Amino acid sequence: VTVKTPASEKRVLLILPPFANPEFPGLGPALLRSILNREGIATDILYANLLFSKVIEGDPFIERQLIQVPACEMAFTPHYFGTDRRAAAECLRTHVIALAKDPDSHSIERYLRIVDLCGDFLDAFLQSVDWNCYDVVGFSVMVGQTVSALAISKRIKELQLPCRIVFGGPNTLGPPGRELIRSFPEIDFVLQGEADETFSRLVERIRSSTYAIDDIPGLIFRNERNEVSCPLPHSPVQNLDSLPIPDLQPFFDQLDSFDIHHIQPYMPLETARGCWWGAKHHCTFCGIEDNIMKFRSKSPQRALDEILALSERHNYTEFAVVDSIINLKYFRDLLPQIGRLREEQEWDFSFFFETKSNLTREHARLFHYAGVSTVQPGLESFSDHILRLMKKGTTAARQIQCLKFLAEHEIVATWNVIFGIPGEVPADYDEMIAVIPFLHHIPPCRHATWLTPMLVNRFAPYHSDPTSYGIRNIRPSSFYRDVFPRPDIDLDSLATYFDYDRDDAHAAELKVLHASLRDSLKRWQACYQPDSLMQIRGPNFVRIVDRRVYDESLLSSEAPASTTVLTGTLAEIFVYCDEIRQLDEIQRRFSSSLTEEEVRAFLAGMHRDRLIYCSPSGQVISLPLLKESQCSAIAPATPSSPTALTSLPNSRGALLSLPVV
Ligand code: SF4
Repeated sequence: VTVKTPASEKRVLLILPPFANPEFPGLGPALLRSILNREGIATDILYANLLFSKVIEGDPFIERQLIQVPACEMAFTPHYFGTDRRAAAECLRTHVIALAKDPDSHSIERYLRIVDLCGDFLDAFLQSVDWNCYDVVGFSVMVGQTVSALAISKRIKELQLPCRIVFGGPNTLGPPGRELIRSFPEIDFVLQGEADETFSRLVERIRSSTYAIDDIPGLIFRNERNEVSCPLPHSPVQNLDSLPIPDLQPFFDQLDSFDIHHIQPYMPLETARGCWWGAKHHCTFCGIEDNIMKFRSKSPQRALDEILALSERHNYTEFAVVDSIINLKYFRDLLPQIGRLREEQEWDFSFFFETKSNLTREHARLFHYAGVSTVQPGLESFSDHILRLMKKGTTAARQIQCLKFLAEHEIVATWNVIFGIPGEVPADYDEMIAVIPFLHHIPPCRHATWLTPMLVNRFAPYHSDPTSYGIRNIRPSSFYRDVFPRPDIDLDSLATYFDYDRDDAHAAELKVLHASLRDSLKRWQACYQPDSLMQIRGPNFVRIVDRRVYDESLLSSEAPASTTVLTGTLAEIFVYCDEIRQLDEIQRRFSSSLTEEEVRAFLAGMHRDRLIYCSPSGQVISLPLLKESQCSAIAPATPSSPTALTSLPNSRGALLSLPVV
């Protein structure tokens, strides 16, 4: 980034506060730095989360587990509100052990130490900056980072320098932004939404003598009467190609200068914002705000330019794409282009992408070709009814198809099942528990939070329209009053997560079934063996070799493989069901060879042997995996002319789950 002649002698400082994950270089500040420097506003970033890692000496409990618990910011509460450190430590411990597998191992001393380390961090932080250089300090605030940002702001203000403090980031969207500025005098401005096109305007106005600021979209400030004012709503960026490449150099420099060697950072990449599915059907649990839901994407060339530039600049080839959902057009252009570079240049690009679960085998093949090694397909359930309740636009059979195609291409799928969905009934769990054994040959999700309770997030339909879902008495999650112990703070406005009540006639039965589902998922994890259900196709036959086990105690024994050979029309039906088919569709297609009853009987037998899955709604999908070489033979599209995509439904969301620590 070329820094033009500074418009001011002063500089802007952007801060990523704890508990931001130190493994993810913050894209927001990195992008803003590029924009501000491009516009002649000299800007620095301080990755305070890295400094925090230094202060805690990389304590893995704090760095990997505690930071995922939204209540973690309570460790900073005494340092902002002046409350008792022991009370804070006890509160924090209480909230964390409610999620812990081994509550007895969480001593109060551990939590007192964490609270004290937060104080040590604040001292170190204040000394690490020459505050006279800066006239604007901006914070990028996400879940779990508000109190640390407030504690830092308070200390900056205590220096009594002419320095303006601006809060932005996801946790300032909507009512929380107004409440922040109303309740916390350290904050001079909140800049809501995507600040890429507004932050520089704010800095210029702060530095100009006129100081007219009421025409900046998304800006919240105190007016002359000391009232909170927000004249214009925030305005999302429409042309992502107009944004510069994020300047991540400060992150890597600070990683070096803080001498933190245990952190293996991901290279973040943004190619799109919003969600094309959510813009049509907002998944009921998803906390993306409506104004930023509209899908926008970088052009394939712009995305590729950014990948190449970041890779060359930082000698990285492993990218974590932060988009909520992949642009389907990338299957036609960007992914084939990357695949060609991998093939012809022998470059080792690899990617994480979030996607919808309605993937075809061709999508999976293109992912594999482009080096997409991990995807988050937003499964959320294996029950048709629950998926309908969630407005996910997919079915259990489609989830299975997605996992099958990804497994065939050795792409890791990371996902979770959400339970406690309003409207769910016991039959939904009977269905899911029955489905899981059909999947024992597919790699299970190894993520600790793969079965998580439904949470009500701000901006989700469950929050904005609770009565439609039988949800009532929505209130801020219980930890907020401990995190923000001042009674005048309006937590209804500030909170991101909410507790709620719901009448459920089946509550007791569902509780038992949730536990049974957990057992089924654990059994899947225990029983999974690679290549345990494969199919081999030849002239007019399919041979299926099944070595699955359903009881982990049998894993060590030499369980005999069972082999099924299908020939003629039955082999054709089996191959036809490689992708999801409707029962009546199959019956029609093979009506010249088999009666409807014969087709039904064949499918019932295959379902009984768990070689084909027939859903209660009549969707049919075969289960054995093809070898990757066979997949390519079946889908021979060249990189330059991949199969055209049909429109697909799927998902992902905001932070959905509380991790077990
Ligand atoms: S959960 Fe996923 S698919 Fe659904 S609206 Fe949110 S981002 Fe989109």
